[in-house]
Amino acid sequence: MRIISAKFVKGIIGTDDVLYDGLPQIVFVGRSNVGKSSVINSLANQHNLVKTGKKPGKTTEINFFLINKQFYFVDLPGYGYARLSPDEREKIRKRMVWYLMESKVKFAEVVLVLDIKAGFTNFDLEMVQLLNKAGHHFIIVANKKDKLNQREISQQLAKIREVSSAEDIIPCSAFTEEGIDVVLDKLFK
Ligand code: GDP
Repeated sequence: MRIISAKFVKGIIGTDDVLYDGLPQIVFVGRSNVGKSSVINSLANQHNLVKTGKKPGKTTEINFFLINKQFYFVDLPGYGYARLSPDEREKIRKRMVWYLMESKVKFAEVVLVLDIKAGFTNFDLEMVQLLNKAGHHFIIVANKKDKLNQREISQQLAKIREVSSAEDIIPCSAFTEEGIDVVLDKLFK
């Protein structure tokens, strides 16, 4: 499937009608700076749908983008940014827990974005535990594969597979767009 239209709808910080309007929600989660915004832009075929290279931790809202007028990409705040104050970190954590666990929305898919070089961190493990607890299926997108050679990519994928227990781990690069079509196929099979 090709994405032909993508538009920012709103950022929410608590319950909102958009959650329950019946359109499927595809949710993106990941540590700050893994390239989550860049991956969303590549998937949506737009350079500036989501601002990239933002100061980590600056986005605390849950942002909804209407895609092909048919479903939403939902961008959650990046987690695990060390320099946030404990208060700010807790605010982000609570908001994510609320959306993922308490809003009772059944997601079409959750996409956990990693930096393939940095791999799967304890923050990602926490996220996976949360998703499993809430019964949400997820796939892993291992971004920034342009930073590694083929042997290193295979090694990192094996490690990520071992610790994450994910069925689908898709290596890609938002920069070269390699693998982006594989992610689209997976989301819209
Ligand atoms: P976010 O914080 O996860 O939303 O990450 P951004 O999309 O803002 O990207 C964080 C940094 O990683 C920026 O400097 C991007 O230019 C860079 N980046 C994003 N995707 C890639 C990629 O595929 N390859 C490389 N080498 N860098 C990337």
